[in-house]
Amino acid sequence: MNIQPIETVRGHNAASRNVGCRLCGSRLRHTLVDLGMSPPCESFLQAEQLDQMEAYYPLNVLVCDACYLVQLKEYLSPETIFSEYAYFSSFSSSWVAHSKVYCEAITRRLGLGRDSLAVELASNDGYLLQHFLPLGVPVLGVEPAANVARAAIEKGVPTRVDFFGVRLASQMMSEGHCADLIIGNNVLAQVPDLNDFVAGMKILLKPQGVVTLEFPHIERLMAENQFDTIYHEHFSYFSLLTIELMAARHGLRLIDVEELPTHGGSLRVYLAHEGSRWGVDDSVGKLLAREKRHGLTEMITYASFGHKAQRAKRDLLAFLISAKNEGKKICGYGAPGKGNTLLNYCAIGTDFLDFTVDRNPYKHGRFTPGMHIPIKSVEAIDEARPDYILILPWNLKDEIIEQMRHVASWGARFVVPIPFVAVIDPSELGR
Ligand SMILES: [Zn+2]
Repeated sequence: MNIQPIETVRGHNAASRNVGCRLCGSRLRHTLVDLGMSPPCESFLQAEQLDQMEAYYPLNVLVCDACYLVQLKEYLSPETIFSEYAYFSSFSSSWVAHSKVYCEAITRRLGLGRDSLAVELASNDGYLLQHFLPLGVPVLGVEPAANVARAAIEKGVPTRVDFFGVRLASQMMSEGHCADLIIGNNVLAQVPDLNDFVAGMKILLKPQGVVTLEFPHIERLMAENQFDTIYHEHFSYFSLLTIELMAARHGLRLIDVEELPTHGGSLRVYLAHEGSRWGVDDSVGKLLAREKRHGLTEMITYASFGHKAQRAKRDLLAFLISAKNEGKKICGYGAPGKGNTLLNYCAIGTDFLDFTVDRNPYKHGRFTPGMHIPIKSVEAIDEARPDYILILPWNLKDEIIEQMRHVASWGARFVVPIPFVAVIDPSELGR
């Protein structure tokens, strides 16, 4: 991937546009955590790039004291991030299963049928919309990365290659596409102009239509020390408090919320037009009250998070140093974006991890950005027979340990780095 600073992409200085909060415009005066300098986490390198200069940007996370939006400055342009995206959602079988359950439930709940339209924003490779096809619900995907959109179209999921916002929503409306359901899963964090994105949803949504958005919950991120889920491609991190303010700014109403275990603890929020027939579920008031109880309206709560991240770094390094001093062989499992934040923040290179493996063949033969750890196919673990396997996508640890429990045959153990380092011996797990 060709990474350019945003200044050269858009021909003006990004910093001058980034003084205020992305949602409400207030001046940003508080830091959540400073993870130092890091390369963009999806810029996996090919062998011939290893001798070249790499771009590093700050991972200094700020929080707005007016709307509580946790945010990074926009160091990278979305055009740069998404022109060739390496993440194909279908490579996670648990995520595809989660999506199927959602499609069946929302079809029943909203009474969707042949005359409806379900639109997914950032529809990736059609991992979700494909499940509406057997239910007879027409779908349309919007996906800016051409390579993943192609995979969706090959599955029979019609997909537009474009960025979503007011411009595209107005164009879709004029072509007769109004949505009964708009889905945005793990896209909100990656939207540089939040207000334009939400205004676009408002335009595209039918009068009684519903929007559902899923995103990692900042309350869980902080409570469980998930600092590694912060990276440049994720500009924004949300509480329900922020979502309610965001919806109200655009004439939308927050009508329901569910807590999900995905991505380390996510929220699924349901939005409808102000004045529509939808009432507000009790879950909304309950979760807003809990967030306030947990201090999410107080800046001091956010400030304490940085110390926890530093302790996790010291604990993980202490474990890795002592294992290497004992002559142990260590490799990684997975090469997710979050892995690269962890590896760069802790400075874990091939002096600790011989290699990592990934199920996504796009990454095989490439190297992780910054730390240059080689990425191999999963079978490499059976050949190398390491003593420890560091699980980088720790949110999928149950799935990974289940698939890899045969490593117990040579005495290997799993290491989970978050919230604090933990060692799991697969031979002690029940059958
Ligand atoms: Zn704000």
